[in-house]
Amino acid sequence: MSKTHLGHTARKRFGQNFLFDEYVIDQIVTAIAPKPGQNLVEIGPGLGALTEPVANLVEHLHVVELDRDLAKRLREHPFIQDKLNVIEQDALKFDFASLTQNDKLRVFGNLPYNISTPLMFHLFSFSEHIQDMHFMLQLEVVKRLCAVDGDSLYGKLSVMAQYYCAATPVVMVPPSAFKPAPKVDSAVVQLIPHATPPVELHSVSSLELTVGTAFNQRRKTIRNSLKNLISEASLNTLDIDAERRAQTLSLVEFARIANYVYEANGE
Ligand code: SAM
Repeated sequence: MSKTHLGHTARKRFGQNFLFDEYVIDQIVTAIAPKPGQNLVEIGPGLGALTEPVANLVEHLHVVELDRDLAKRLREHPFIQDKLNVIEQDALKFDFASLTQNDKLRVFGNLPYNISTPLMFHLFSFSEHIQDMHFMLQLEVVKRLCAVDGDSLYGKLSVMAQYYCAATPVVMVPPSAFKPAPKVDSAVVQLIPHATPPVELHSVSSLELTVGTAFNQRRKTIRNSLKNLISEASLNTLDIDAERRAQTLSLVEFARIANYVYEANGE
């Protein structure tokens, strides 16, 4: 499998797998449904597989690209350069709030798979500034984002995604749609931040701490995995059976524990 596409040699360290299947590209752009006047931002535009068709539908588009050569190509793009605000930065460190004035952001991208989970957490922290997001990810990560309690892939990413957004898989994508082809299946997920959070929290970091601690030892009962945060007696007062495992707890139940932990420890 050639690693060179449109004169650019794919860089593994930047998670570069370029889309070239026109049918898949069309399905993704249809799912995003960009309209003139919207505040659109693409993460990892690469060689422009999504950037070009989206730019053809709108007047202006922000793009965040870490690879210096690709950012340069976009700044010099023969047809769409005037529509692009090319931000040559690491999306993991980028302040997405800096792009919002009046309009919330519509964020999309075929993301570098090697940083997709930390990037999701980074973007969640800007959810109040975001109207919606459409991301191509490894299918397994999409399943994690959409998993509910009881599902085998339910974990910290699922609980935190549920807190911030409604997540729905919208397009399935085979490895053959990319150059070079990744080893795994992919899918596009739509994430729409909630207008009002589904649970009331004293602190988001307390929920992250509680969920992270419970899933770090996911095979143990929460009596054991959460013993440094909450006692069995306190779990009983919250009406949560200490014999249960993290995978069976809903967002509502995790929030109840997290609020208790916050009140007891200030965390
Ligand atoms: N959008 C293009 C496409 O669909 O063909 C490229 C997708 S490729 C999977 C991921 C893109 O993200 C590459 O262009 C890569 O250089 C860029 N990238 C990798 N790490 C990044 C980061 N930390 N911040 C911004 N862009 C990044």
